[in-house]
Amino acid sequence: MSCDLCNSEEELSEYVVAPKEDTITICKHCANNIKNPKENENHWKCLNDSMWSDSPAVQVVVFRLLSHLGEQDKLDMMYLEDETKVWAKEDLRTSNKEPVRDSNGTILSEGDSVSIIKDLPVKGAGFTAKQGTTVKNIRMVPDDNTHIQGRVNGTIIFIVSAFLKKL
Ligand SMILES: [Zn+2]
Repeated sequence: MSCDLCNSEEELSEYVVAPKEDTITICKHCANNIKNPKENENHWKCLNDSMWSDSPAVQVVVFRLLSHLGEQDKLDMMYLEDETKVWAKEDLRTSNKEPVRDSNGTILSEGDSVSIIKDLPVKGAGFTAKQGTTVKNIRMVPDDNTHIQGRVNGTIIFIVSAFLKKL
């Protein structure tokens, strides 16, 4: 037996893939990081392999983790059956109870287009997202109602929703 996500054999445990009762096997490293995946982004390089798993339960967990991590390019590469996709997104929907709002208090949703209302330096990416930039087809950030994800200058970045205006 080894971890379904990273192949480690350390302190394996069962992880329930809510809202179904199916479980996958994860190691202590994955268990420690699965709630706040962004705290240890390096660990999740293992998803590059586990994203190709045949197991729908593993696919769902990988899909959710990649969503949390904002790895849209990998999400686009994943192949999920329709039923599996619904399962994967079920958790994302219920965990995002408070709507995301723009600078005017307008509710933002998946696929909306927005305009950036002030220059925003993008940490780590080495550019500034300029005021007036249009960001099309935005994505929600799971468990986070203050940011959205969108592509600016060809890079997927997280943007504080209070600096946006819905178009
Ligand atoms: Zn693991």
